[in-house]
Amino acid sequence: MRKAFLISEADNIEDYRTQIMSTFGQVLKYDSTKKICKKLSGDGKGTAEWCTNVANEQGQILISVLTCEESLEKMRPMAEGLMERYRRADEAPPELMYVDRGCCRIHAVSSVEQLFSDWTDRGMLVRLDIFHWIHRFDAALRTDHHPKYALFKSALSAAVFAYNKDDMALLVQAIRAGHPTNYASLTDSQIIELRISKYDLSHYVRRITVSAQETCVRVQCAIDLLKGAAGMDENQVHLFKDSAAIDHVWENQQKHLECIQDPPGRNMYTITKYVTRNGVRLARYSTVRGSNSLEGFHSFLPDMIPGPHCAAVPFQFYLLAGIARWNSNRESASVQGRKGRKHMVYMSPLVHRLNQRCQELFGEVEEAKYRPPVPAGDERIGLEYLFSQSSEPFSTPDHYAQTRETLQADEDEDEDVPAGVAEEEEELQEEDDDVGYSSDGERDSLTPLRNRLCLTDQAVAA
Ligand SMILES: [Zn+2]
Repeated sequence: MRKAFLISEADNIEDYRTQIMSTFGQVLKYDSTKKICKKLSGDGKGTAEWCTNVANEQGQILISVLTCEESLEKMRPMAEGLMERYRRADEAPPELMYVDRGCCRIHAVSSVEQLFSDWTDRGMLVRLDIFHWIHRFDAALRTDHHPKYALFKSALSAAVFAYNKDDMALLVQAIRAGHPTNYASLTDSQIIELRISKYDLSHYVRRITVSAQETCVRVQCAIDLLKGAAGMDENQVHLFKDSAAIDHVWENQQKHLECIQDPPGRNMYTITKYVTRNGVRLARYSTVRGSNSLEGFHSFLPDMIPGPHCAAVPFQFYLLAGIARWNSNRESASVQGRKGRKHMVYMSPLVHRLNQRCQELFGEVEEAKYRPPVPAGDERIGLEYLFSQSSEPFSTPDHYAQTRETLQADEDEDEDVPAGVAEEEEELQEEDDDVGYSSDGERDSLTPLRNRLCLTDQAVAA
């Protein structure tokens, strides 16, 4: 079963590569994970330590590479390949790239800026993911079980973001309309504090970063307060390990206050749909901010490779097939994807060939909303960097032709995977449950207490 799957996937590999390498975006997210690398067995075992991924604003994967380390030297071919892809397709450089480290240029040019210098020279901004920034404070905290932990985290979130007043007013109106008589005696602040759920807040109210100076003042204030009695639990144990620890972390964190701001004037939200609640029409938003869509992908990644361990060749097939499916699912779930696309296929080059044939036969294309794939260049994906180290000069077509031959010749490979696992297909997820879409607002630690929300007239950062 697994064998048949691999042989058929070997035939599709070029299409998968083309689909992934025809993916673009204007807001990119760059992040790495280690987890999937442990699954690599056989000759490949121990050769890959990091799986680095770049995603776009829809959560689709542009590139995924496994390398032995995350150094500039090892990452450079990936970055060069990606920039070359944009050049060949005549695509404008991305506007923004979110990272979990390497953002800062206070002392020198940052590592991400070095990697993507063609893009940063042409105006691409590098931003630190706010979730990661908030997470870094944990180094100075005693434990996340401390009763003041959530309070501090929500104060940090409230220090970074203000909430759009008009969105909030509409949401309050919708909630009031549900129980007009019961809620008549409540003020708007009480409605916000008591009746608005985290979920509603993160989906129906846009957030705007408040500026580096303002965030600095608010965080300082929260830290000063929690250094005192307000930061102790019932046994007089402080949330902060000690004063020096939190001061040290905060000093480092201040370097990144500019890195977490939304670019001035940049709209960070798109409306995914409208929802009518109690007669009030609410816009449901999705944000391009942050790198959380990659966290959804990272938690899904290990499931793409069936079983606890996998040799390099099948690993590569499972990985590319998995990413191609992931990307198609994100596209179908997205606004553009839903409008007028007739076919749900996991290989976009198939749509391209369908279109070409229909054009020849009937004079019109079958999928008018479809952007043709860009012919794959010299980019390498997945384990190809590792493959290339063991056979120089490395040619991708030759490598896969050889792999196909080996697979077909080697008929007696034993099956170590339960039947059916390899053929599992994901169901098309509803947008609401789409992990690729998870917005930064859905994380507990990023949701402030509702009684201390700061409202703003702005819809974008000043
Ligand atoms: Zn920074």
